Amino acid sequence: MDQVDTIAAIATPLGIGGIGVVRISGPAVLSMVQRVFVRPSGAPCIALKSHRVYHGFVVNDAGERVDEVLLCLMRRPHSYTCEDVAEISCHGGVMTMQRVLEVVMAQGARVAEPGEFTKRAFLNGRLDLTQAEAVIDVINARTLASHRAALQQLEGALSRRLHALREQLVQVSVYLEAGIDFPEEDLELVPIAELIDRLATIGTWLTRLLGTFTRGRVVREGLATVIVGRPNVGKSSVLNALLGRDRAIVSPHPGTTRDTIEDALDIEGILLRIIDTAGIRATVDAIEQEGVRRAREAIERAELLLLVFDGSTALTADDYLVLAETVGKPRVLVRNKCDLPVCWTPAALDVSDAPCLDVSALRGEGFGALEQVLVQQVLGRTLLGHDEVLLTQERHRQSLAVALRNVQAAEQGLRQDIPLEFVAFDVTEALQQIAEVLGESCTGEVLDRIFSSFCVGK
Ligand code: GDP
Repeated sequence: MDQVDTIAAIATPLGIGGIGVVRISGPAVLSMVQRVFVRPSGAPCIALKSHRVYHGFVVNDAGERVDEVLLCLMRRPHSYTCEDVAEISCHGGVMTMQRVLEVVMAQGARVAEPGEFTKRAFLNGRLDLTQAEAVIDVINARTLASHRAALQQLEGALSRRLHALREQLVQVSVYLEAGIDFPEEDLELVPIAELIDRLATIGTWLTRLLGTFTRGRVVREGLATVIVGRPNVGKSSVLNALLGRDRAIVSPHPGTTRDTIEDALDIEGILLRIIDTAGIRATVDAIEQEGVRRAREAIERAELLLLVFDGSTALTADDYLVLAETVGKPRVLVRNKCDLPVCWTPAALDVSDAPCLDVSALRGEGFGALEQVLVQQVLGRTLLGHDEVLLTQERHRQSLAVALRNVQAAEQGLRQDIPLEFVAFDVTEALQQIAEVLGESCTGEVLDRIFSSFCVGK
């Protein structure tokens, strides 16, 4: 699909850097580049070859040199957007990049919207929607595991799995249509038992794919890990010790952490999003009450809890309140301040489903063992099979869950001998859901939502 506009954007972060790239895409790229780019001799560059790097200068309308650059032209369709694309590598620095962009815009280019280059790549069939979505995940990846998963999706691993599933569904659909068109011969034309088998196999594959979502989401977004405990047990100190630097305010006054604080820790390539909360206790202070309410909310959303207790003072009713409020959640217990004489044993906590580790946040002791336990927690949730395709996005999960229900309904329908038209309807619905994941039948609204989360220049 040809776009009318030629778009341009600064494709690298706006800041100080060695180089910065201005990217242009669209039908007018070649003529624009011929007007704004000159060789060191001052001669314009008429016969630019595709995928070659040229050294020269960007000049404005007045013929003034704006920057010394390297230019690469990628002629369609062999470019990111499948349109003519030029990338101008100029000196990094806000002023340079903005001036180069202005020169290009003076030739009639318009500033690209966020994600517009990738949107064009998608609309021109260079990427399907799952791959386009992976582009942003590759850019945003902060850990090895999330980067690998995003790259795998960008390379089309999920698309291939979905195309294979669709192929199988199409075959079922062909049989069903034949049975509908020639009902009197249906026993010969439509091997019902075989179709039931095929639908069951498709259902199993979909179930397996959907089963990877919990891990996929943890890989993509990290594990929400919440530190809880009554005030002054050392929660903020434990957070700082885990992160290896001072992030939260540590104070001897109970109730200092009144809001939740979030930071991230990379464990075995998985992001632990660690959230420090206000101490949980019965309180009459209005601001502290709000902190406690937020702490409770954080507990609600947590995927892992780190319960901190003060080993140097007797357990209190508030400690037991914390234990009671976190029952049933995955938790790791920490007996802090072990540099001081301990005055209770872990048995006093009466918890059998979680380990209790001794640490001293003050001295940084015991954190190696604590990290090992956290690693176990992470690996327990994210262990992957070799080459396993991971479902990482809620949009995909929702559509494929509907597809699975349709496939199961179709299988059930065949078993119950309902008219083939109804079975075919379910199969068509399942195909529609797969097409939506791949972006073949998405509304403009869905596309706008997806691409607006991109950065400008991508
Ligand atoms: P929070 O209210 O649970 O976040 O607790 P803080 O991290 O603010 O710590 C409360 C007090 O306990 C501060 O005075 C800390 O210095 C002290 N503290 C924290 N961890 C330790 C520790 O391991 N040993 C000792 N002796 N004191 C600690």
